[in-house]
Amino acid sequence: MHLSNYHSHCSFCDGRSMPEEFVKFALAKSFRAYGISSHGPLPFETFWNMSAFDMPEYLVEISRLKDKYQGHLEIYTGMEIDYLDTTYNPSIPYFQNLPLDYRIGSVHFLPIATELCEANMVCIDGPFSEFKKAVDTYFEGDIRKMVKRYYESSIRMVELGGIDIVGHLDKIYMNGQRCKDFSFTAPWYRNMVNEYLEVIAGKGLIVEINTKNLLKKQQTFPRQEYLSRMRELQIPVMVNSDCHTPDLVNDGRQEAFDVLKQAGYKSTCELIAGSWQSIPF
Ligand SMILES: [Zn+2]
Ligand SMILES: [Zn+2]
Repeated sequence: MHLSNYHSHCSFCDGRSMPEEFVKFALAKSFRAYGISSHGPLPFETFWNMSAFDMPEYLVEISRLKDKYQGHLEIYTGMEIDYLDTTYNPSIPYFQNLPLDYRIGSVHFLPIATELCEANMVCIDGPFSEFKKAVDTYFEGDIRKMVKRYYESSIRMVELGGIDIVGHLDKIYMNGQRCKDFSFTAPWYRNMVNEYLEVIAGKGLIVEINTKNLLKKQQTFPRQEYLSRMRELQIPVMVNSDCHTPDLVNDGRQEAFDVLKQAGYKSTCELIAGSWQSIPF
């Protein structure tokens, strides 16, 4: 099996160690490929996104690591880029002109007004108390309205394109499932996920199986029950740990591969010498 990880944070964003520390762990675990994917800059500062000011240093540092570890580990420069709205997302020239090897598109924020400042952002990936407050304040206490907004943003992100990988596809359920009226099995939810999967399949994008919460909370993004539908739609997949500390580079990988096998998947997407290839596992 090819050991790889393309979703990894580091000290340029909210990861806890320098990129090289992640690389060393990946080498120690006999990885073939490793991609660093810091949270890309936003039009405002947050404690987890990198600053545009640090971009040149980020690119130089990963390029230095590529040279240093050449022949031992394929290292790639990636970025996890936020979709905020149609004016700020992975498809805009700023992100498209960066010399990246790949781009992950993720929705963490739902803007509640057109001005893109921190005060106008609802974060779906933070503490539940803040999430719940946002549902009550901006979505009339109705989680279904917020979930709908999340999938509308997600679909728009995929339609606008400029990404290779869809990041943690259904992350909204992490907090959403704790709200009244949320239901994985209700048609309103299942139909939204299915529509999103169909749009992704139409664009030919890779979906990551994000294992960040797999061992800790038995959660994968996307949930395991969507994998057989994804396979029917011939959506290519990869397994990513979304690690923020080096000891977690390989966290949940074997378990995710087991689940993929059960769903009938036989291969994952790998960057090999810089091009995406489907590799049987
Ligand atoms: Zn993310
Ligand atoms: Zn991430």
